[in-house]
Amino acid sequence: MLSESVMTSRDILAHLVGFNTVSSTSNLALIDWVRGYLERHGIRSEVIRDETGTKAHLWATIGPDRDGGIVLSGHTDVVPVDGQPWTSDPFTLTERDGRLYGRGTADMKGFIAVALNAVERFKAAALDRPVHLAFSYDEEIGCLGVPSLLEAIGQHGIRPVACIVGEPTMMKLVVGHKGILCARGHVRGLECHSSMAPEGVNAVQYAARIIDFVRRETERRYKEGPFDHRFTPSTTTLHVGTVHGGTAFNIVPRDCRFDLEIRHLPTEDPHRILQSVERYCRDVLEPEMRAVAPETGITFSVVCDTPGLAADPESDIAATVRRITGDNDSAVVAYTTEAGHYSRAGYPTIVCGPGSMEQGHKPDEFIEASQLEAGDRFMETLAGMLGRKDVPSDNTLRSD
Ligand SMILES: [Zn+2]
Repeated sequence: MLSESVMTSRDILAHLVGFNTVSSTSNLALIDWVRGYLERHGIRSEVIRDETGTKAHLWATIGPDRDGGIVLSGHTDVVPVDGQPWTSDPFTLTERDGRLYGRGTADMKGFIAVALNAVERFKAAALDRPVHLAFSYDEEIGCLGVPSLLEAIGQHGIRPVACIVGEPTMMKLVVGHKGILCARGHVRGLECHSSMAPEGVNAVQYAARIIDFVRRETERRYKEGPFDHRFTPSTTTLHVGTVHGGTAFNIVPRDCRFDLEIRHLPTEDPHRILQSVERYCRDVLEPEMRAVAPETGITFSVVCDTPGLAADPESDIAATVRRITGDNDSAVVAYTTEAGHYSRAGYPTIVCGPGSMEQGHKPDEFIEASQLEAGDRFMETLAGMLGRKDVPSDNTLRSD
């Protein structure tokens, strides 16, 4: 075991990858290791557990105990490795040809490693405003964890002025992504012998009409918009990904359940889109169903709601990241992140982190060693900008 004083981002990453934190398992061992690491650097952390006690967020503050500051945000969970052909053990950091292999190296333990590695730099910078570390759980299953972390931040009365979500962007500034709303639909029909079909209410066939409505709604959007040509496709898309219904060919099915996903432009309200589907059910389908059997009906329940991100490319945090990275672009990405939640909570948020999502979720996921170094340099420059020394005169992030 290396002593902490000579630990590099790579050493820290090796520790983090060593903890199997697939979303379906506990992340407590990793959180405990991070807590211990920070404690050895004189930083106290708060561990915020979920109701089951098997998962936790970590929140820590470096620098002055005062309002404001910047959040460095990462998720600790990773996607499963089941059925994937890995060349080496996914939970052992393995270097081959300048690449560091392991589950979560790119998405996104690499960022957590560079953030932790920068703790001493932040301390030495004599920060004018705090730097907060916010490490969450359950991001990979629909950003389900982060709302409780944001609630805890809110309860502390801490109002960070900006947040950097370190999902892998090859250290480029990302200011936007789509959002996702998932809803589970349930058609409750009435079963009967299929020879007497008109006496029943066929839940599968009503579900099919909803699914067709969803298809037509998406195709209408392809033609009419709204459009945001930074994205491919440039419109909101709706689709049904699963359908389950019926029990036998000769029974009119009573139940049909399906999953509706709305991948929406960050400027569109997905709840209004869901309401349009519900309106079709209420105004067109349910009256037909209830004419046969009044107890029938259609319900939807929202199972995930990840807001999109539409950050102001001219915000202080975007300008700061641009200055650090030298990247003058303001890109958008296809995947979703916790940035939408931070942004919805009122914190100006952008995405920027080491590694590429090209490698995320795949077998033999890796991060280029040079990307970790780029992440280290980013933190070093950020520390300099947030500290009392060497502050560029136009850096508004440190002022009120
Ligand atoms: Zn991620």
